[in-house]
Amino acid sequence: MLSQNDQPNATLEPSCRHCCIKIQDLTVCLSGHTILDGINLHVHCGEVVAIVGPNGAGKSTLLRAILGEVPYQGTMSSLMGGVERRRPRIGYVPQKLHFEIDSPVSVADLVVAAVSQRPVWWGISTKSFEKVKRILSVFAADDLITRRIGELSGGELQRVLLAIAMTAKPELLLLDEPGSGVDAKGLGLFYQLVRDLRKQHDISVILVTHDLSGISEYVDRLVLLNHAIVAEGNPKDVLSNEKLIQIFGPGLWNISSLPTISNERSL
Ligand code: ADP
Ligand code: MG
Repeated sequence: MLSQNDQPNATLEPSCRHCCIKIQDLTVCLSGHTILDGINLHVHCGEVVAIVGPNGAGKSTLLRAILGEVPYQGTMSSLMGGVERRRPRIGYVPQKLHFEIDSPVSVADLVVAAVSQRPVWWGISTKSFEKVKRILSVFAADDLITRRIGELSGGELQRVLLAIAMTAKPELLLLDEPGSGVDAKGLGLFYQLVRDLRKQHDISVILVTHDLSGISEYVDRLVLLNHAIVAEGNPKDVLSNEKLIQIFGPGLWNISSLPTISNERSL
């Protein structure tokens, strides 16, 4: 059973605080290597920004720095309803969730564990079960409630994780490669959900992806990251930029295999 304060936010009220997230001169060094170098990024309320770049470019590290999970130099601030704060409320869907494939944990257990302080083995009351179902229904995942998490497809698991991330009423939503392990239909559904969330809740979204072919219609801005920001702008402009195509070759469309290059911010 969930305590009064732990009740999942079943209604998902709009969370707009007229926010913007400002990252200035963010530098991350790990084990003596500069993973991110002088990142400046300004994400507006209701904006969906896709981060693309080769493997090892620092995309996940950027999200982890925003979450405060890795040390960084530079500043991060958020403007909420005209008030400057140090950190926005963040919802996060990780690139991978590590669990045993034959784990007995159900989707209901996972949601309750994420939103409540109470141990799952205390059981879930009928009332809480119905609340969890309502939370999941917003993400077309209510029929998964009794399924074991190991039985879920990639797309189903992503929708459950997105539902959990949204219970925090985030001002900023971070999604790390939601496309991995998801088929084209599941990916379309997921992006559509993110687009709807952005509209309904006016949240800022930073989305790491390799899916360049399908992403353009769902995002406002594309940032090409390779330890530093190489380019950013309207997705179609970035992807058709002659200079980038010269640097990366036609393989710009196959971003996962891009060669490592030094920073050349060009747009
Ligand atoms: P991406 O998500 O773009 O594929 P990552 O952000 O996961 O890249 O990693 C960027 C680089 O940082 C990689 O070379 C990775 O090995 C390195 N890295 C990530 N975490 C650590 C760490 N804790 N210590 C040292 N190096 C790390
Ligand atoms: Mg990554």
